Amino acid sequence: MNHRVFLNGDFIPEQQALIPVMDRGFLFADGVYEVIPAYRGKLFGVLPHLERLQRSLDALKLTNPYSQSRWQSIFRELLPAQEDAMIYLQITRGAPQERQHHWQGQTMEQTVLVKSSTMVSPQQPKANQGAILVEDQRWQRCDIKSISLLPNILARQQAAEQNAVEAIMHRDQQITEGSASNLFMVSDGEIITPEVSSHILAGVTRKIVLRLLEREGIPYREARVDQQQLMQADELFITSSTKEICPITRLNAQPVGDGEVGRLTQQVFLGYKQLIHQLVTGSINEYEI
Ligand code: PMP
Repeated sequence: MNHRVFLNGDFIPEQQALIPVMDRGFLFADGVYEVIPAYRGKLFGVLPHLERLQRSLDALKLTNPYSQSRWQSIFRELLPAQEDAMIYLQITRGAPQERQHHWQGQTMEQTVLVKSSTMVSPQQPKANQGAILVEDQRWQRCDIKSISLLPNILARQQAAEQNAVEAIMHRDQQITEGSASNLFMVSDGEIITPEVSSHILAGVTRKIVLRLLEREGIPYREARVDQQQLMQADELFITSSTKEICPITRLNAQPVGDGEVGRLTQQVFLGYKQLIHQLVTGSINEYEI
């Protein structure tokens, strides 16, 4: 793996990549991020990720430092050609002279970090994976991919302490999403996922899965899901750029359906894998995802 990172315009060894203590990312979590998967050096979903980055930046009144093509050339410079990897990028408002909540009247340069790390892409859907249900304690703008992730990390830690892979959050009885993933439920042969709103992140994987369901003629719906429906689901799976399609076979220590990876989950897993295969073998290009 390449241990160079991109920081503020330069490619440098990771150990030399330092940021000032006054950085507003460090002081206030004032910034946004993206995680983009790549298979054998090919970016997966790069355009939807860059579009979401733009929406996050706009929402926080940050400027986009680079064009889409410049971003891509930075990613390509860091990506290993023969491995699966993920690009992590983060932009913060920068380091002002003084610590003040507002930034009006302060001059600073945004801090831009891009790094690549190894990603292990699952070859089979994993069995025997649990999730827990927790209250969603986040703010009202979960559609922004902000680096301020305290409620998410606390929820995930709670899951880990209970030997579960994800914490699924609910707000006012409605299911929102996982701490770092979107949720899909199978009920009576139909796939249901909570509709996008300011209470969830519009996942790129979620969008790709919905397109796949459409193409394969699998019945699906974007709708409200409450806790009770979730507890009675036949199958559950979560999606994210790094976890791809991840079955959940236990919820709060109870089996989901028969406790095995379900048929539709398998089908979605395989459909997604097929897309990756098509990208890697060149039968579709990076911009067709
Ligand atoms: N929701 C949250 C809160 C997340 O952090 C993530 C992962 N970035 C997702 C959903 C899934 O998004 P994506 O499919 O774009 O990785």
